[in-house]
Amino acid sequence: MKELYRLLHEQGFGSRKECRKLIEAGLVAIDGEPAADYRQQVDPGALGELEVDGEAWSLLELPLYLMLHKPGGYETSHRPLHNPSVFHLLPYQFEALGIAAVGRLDVDTTGLLLMSTDGQFIHALTSPKKLVPKCYRVTLKHPVVDELVAQLLKGVYLKDDDEKIIAETVTVVDSYTIDMTITQGKYHQVKRMVAAASNRVVGLHRLSLGSVGLGDLAEGEWRRLSREELAALG
Ligand code: URA
Repeated sequence: MKELYRLLHEQGFGSRKECRKLIEAGLVAIDGEPAADYRQQVDPGALGELEVDGEAWSLLELPLYLMLHKPGGYETSHRPLHNPSVFHLLPYQFEALGIAAVGRLDVDTTGLLLMSTDGQFIHALTSPKKLVPKCYRVTLKHPVVDELVAQLLKGVYLKDDDEKIIAETVTVVDSYTIDMTITQGKYHQVKRMVAAASNRVVGLHRLSLGSVGLGDLAEGEWRRLSREELAALG
């Protein structure tokens, strides 16, 4: 059992004080009855229908593990500089719960972005030791030539890096498109690798991370990761 205002706080509805005020203002109802006392004891496992500020709210299972189909024109940042934040595509409560992205996608990159409130999960997937394969569909400015594929697979040197950076796999999709898998997550890695191999990226879309892909999730939409997807990433 826990006090109602604490439960609302844990669900991301604001500070403890803000949650007490929400309840005192009569904006929180359980089974249609406005809660009268913010200290009311509730059982999160057996709570009736919860309404907050006129909207039904199903209790979130925490920590959160989500995927977002990132649209172009959004920054992977809580403090974006010139564009809206990817976090604004999620319910506002998630930011208060400490949601963060698993790595970053550039503002013009689209596709799979994982997000979580579990810092250890994020750290494990972004750690240079982990080498999680990330597959991108890359649209090129100049046509694909054998030399491009060979160079990406053989490895290229990026500025400020002593070691060669290698693409794990490169598949030619059509004359201006390749699918490329990398295991590191260096800054602008795909764009810089392609530039080092004498071509230029004009479109970048992340298809998958490990065995987890977007499926039919529409651009701008998010969903929770399934247990199977979480297990596969672990
Ligand atoms: N590589 C890039 O260059 N940009 C991204 O957004 C992701 C990988």
